[in-house]
Amino acid sequence: MSFKLQIGEMRTEYLTDKEIWGHFNYIFSSKSKNSTTYKYVLIKSMLENLYNVNDSLELSYDRLFSSFAKIYWNLVIHHQLNQINMTGKKAEVQNILLDIQSQFNIPSTLVFDKLSPELQVEVINKVKKKCKLNVMGALYGDTDQTIYDFNNKTEMLRYNQTFYSFMQRFQRILNYLTNYQLAVFLEKFNEKGNTTNLLMKVENVSKRSSLDQFYFLLSSYYNGSCFYCGKSIKRKQLAHVDHFIPWSFVQTDQLWNLVISCSTCNLAKNDKLAEQDFLSLLIDRNEELLKEKKILIREDMKMYREKKLVELYTFSIDNGYTDFWRPKKRII
Ligand SMILES: [Zn+2]
Repeated sequence: MSFKLQIGEMRTEYLTDKEIWGHFNYIFSSKSKNSTTYKYVLIKSMLENLYNVNDSLELSYDRLFSSFAKIYWNLVIHHQLNQINMTGKKAEVQNILLDIQSQFNIPSTLVFDKLSPELQVEVINKVKKKCKLNVMGALYGDTDQTIYDFNNKTEMLRYNQTFYSFMQRFQRILNYLTNYQLAVFLEKFNEKGNTTNLLMKVENVSKRSSLDQFYFLLSSYYNGSCFYCGKSIKRKQLAHVDHFIPWSFVQTDQLWNLVISCSTCNLAKNDKLAEQDFLSLLIDRNEELLKEKKILIREDMKMYREKKLVELYTFSIDNGYTDFWRPKKRII
């Protein structure tokens, strides 16, 4: 039984697109054993962390399971959604989270990013410890032992190179597909009333309630003007933290992809890509940021490479972000 495996090595190096689509078809079909939402949430977590890998395409479980635990917290506690295909029963991850919730008396309204940093770490560690045992082997088995290596002792996953490139090229459609399948599952096994706008809930389950922590970090390193138009931003209320590559594509918040912009630019840019010259500006901005010790020790910045940002920009165009934007006027 592959889901019980604790270490798995890839059986192949090269996969064609057709083979990989075949694996996804299988995962989302009734042939695959999906008694809980684990596989969907694992795929979502892998997509969110595509650019958090090191140069050997390895991803630490700490990163992977911080997405996994966050998604589950928001689904189980915040949206109160059942995660198993039986009514009256609960998936293991639900029990872990509900225990923590009652132990610390946490109201259901609280989303993951509103928990204290210490509590977030506790949630991540507890979820990781239990869930890694079944989840990693299950997806590995379902994909014919081809898409990644994993080791539950060293807590590392390594993407197959061709699978990694596939995920980059089809990131947007894979996100849609996974969210849709997750919503379908949840709709089947949750009582009415909880499921209103289920797809919208699933699509936004990773979104932070506030980007303030990034504002405070970035505001000490910028000159008080909008990244795009250059106008000075007088009051904090008028400053927005903007995802340079739109959030709808990256589904994650990495400091190297965040800039401070005026509200006019942020609202006008919306879900579009800024024109290429802004990419060069952001590369320079990140170089500057990396000179700061406080920034350098951040996990997201440790994984930052100029090449990754350029790739992300190129792949967002390939994934259909072809609507370019620039501010009407720019003060240099
Ligand atoms: Zn502006």
